[in-house]
Amino acid sequence: MNKRDSEALASRLSSQGYLITDSEQSADVILINTCSVRDGAEQKALNKMRMLIGKSGQQPRKPLFGFLGCMAQAHGEKLLEEIPGLKLVLGTHCSHKLPEYLDMLLKGEREKIADCGEMDAPPVFLKDHSLLQEGSEFPLVSAFVNIMHGCDQHCTYCIVPETRGKEFSRPIADIVDECRSLAQNGVKEVTLLGQIVTSYGKRLISASPEGLSPFVQLLEEVEKIEGLERIRFTSPHPKGYGLDLVEAYSRLNKLCESAHIPLQSGSNRILKAMRRGYTTERFLEILSQLRSVRPSIGLVTDIIVGFPGETEEDFQETMNLVRTARFDNAFIFKYSPRQHTPATEMPEQVPMEIREERHARLLALVNEIAQEAYQHKVGETLDVLVEGLSRRNVNRLQGRSRCNKIVLFEGPSAWVGTIRKFRIVRAGQYSLYGEPIETEDN
Ligand code: SAH
Ligand code: SF4
Repeated sequence: MNKRDSEALASRLSSQGYLITDSEQSADVILINTCSVRDGAEQKALNKMRMLIGKSGQQPRKPLFGFLGCMAQAHGEKLLEEIPGLKLVLGTHCSHKLPEYLDMLLKGEREKIADCGEMDAPPVFLKDHSLLQEGSEFPLVSAFVNIMHGCDQHCTYCIVPETRGKEFSRPIADIVDECRSLAQNGVKEVTLLGQIVTSYGKRLISASPEGLSPFVQLLEEVEKIEGLERIRFTSPHPKGYGLDLVEAYSRLNKLCESAHIPLQSGSNRILKAMRRGYTTERFLEILSQLRSVRPSIGLVTDIIVGFPGETEEDFQETMNLVRTARFDNAFIFKYSPRQHTPATEMPEQVPMEIREERHARLLALVNEIAQEAYQHKVGETLDVLVEGLSRRNVNRLQGRSRCNKIVLFEGPSAWVGTIRKFRIVRAGQYSLYGEPIETEDN
């Protein structure tokens, strides 16, 4: 979501005449878009900003420094006082005002600005997209599209409802227009974004006569867009994962067989304390329903270790669930206490050494299972959307399979933006190596 916000803001500034530079030394304006979801992310952004401001002391012309995003929203004006040299703090609710504020600051009309907007007001959705991939000459192949803002769920550990505010959904027609325009500009894949996409449209749109939830109605409309080849979305919440969404996977051809479904814990006691609203049994049921409609579906999750009160037995339940679920990947986070969240007040906070140790054990298990899942793909033929150069080796191209695995191969850059068949010849750590198959389409 942050990546999408940065891209939209950069694109909006470009359309106003700003040039994007890849060098901090030559920049007149340096903006850091921040995440607040864990303390580590905040500290990283603060250190980076302090380091840049410190270094700029020796430069003849000092750039203008600003913080955007969730940390700006969470800490507001206070950041201007704490970090001398910082000129702009712009929260998530008014990011569309960035060009206006930069103008005022650069013209010297204002010395410093902090604006975190009105959290109860509907947000302005940014529709700007750069049609070139970041830092490259390749066309945009895959795009993120925001379908909603905020979250009303209030899981007891999570700062998102504070930094992103209440849930607001965009109308279906508005989202479809944005996706259609992307497809007309050569984009082949969209990822629909929201903190809790399964709640999409809940106050705006009623269920269809066939009982389809607003989110599935949206998927059906996006499926109809000519030129668009692939649809993904993130994140659904297990609580709202209805059968209509499972069935959408069997009906909608463009909906890729990959899903990111956050588990958070394998212990029902901890899920309850997290206020997640589902049980581990229900979670596993969703996975088996999805696997029965799309056996090759790639499944990825998020897990928090060391939530207050998590015992070794609770942790073992998470390990066991991971063994049963056999995820293709999992993002594992050490619980991080966040301001104003109920979990920070809970007794039995788990010591950091234990959080770290559980993180290491779970990561080793996840990596082992994922490696088997990747190895299992060797010998298969996969459709790959070619995205651009491999990050590690510029002599290779990379793309993604429908099950959302990175595939690396050799080929001409003219393949970027096409979907081609590859035979998987070997598996790396979270990547697959492919050889092109000569077919009429290829
Ligand atoms: N809306 C998504 C998650 C958004 S935050 C959902 O409900 O699943 C992304 C991930 O960060 C979460 O899935 C969770 O695993 C992790 N996370 C959120 N708050 C956290 C905290 N306080 N400490 C550690 N991890 C956290
Ligand atoms: Fe945070 Fe996701 Fe829970 Fe919303 S549903 S409060 S974003 S973890």
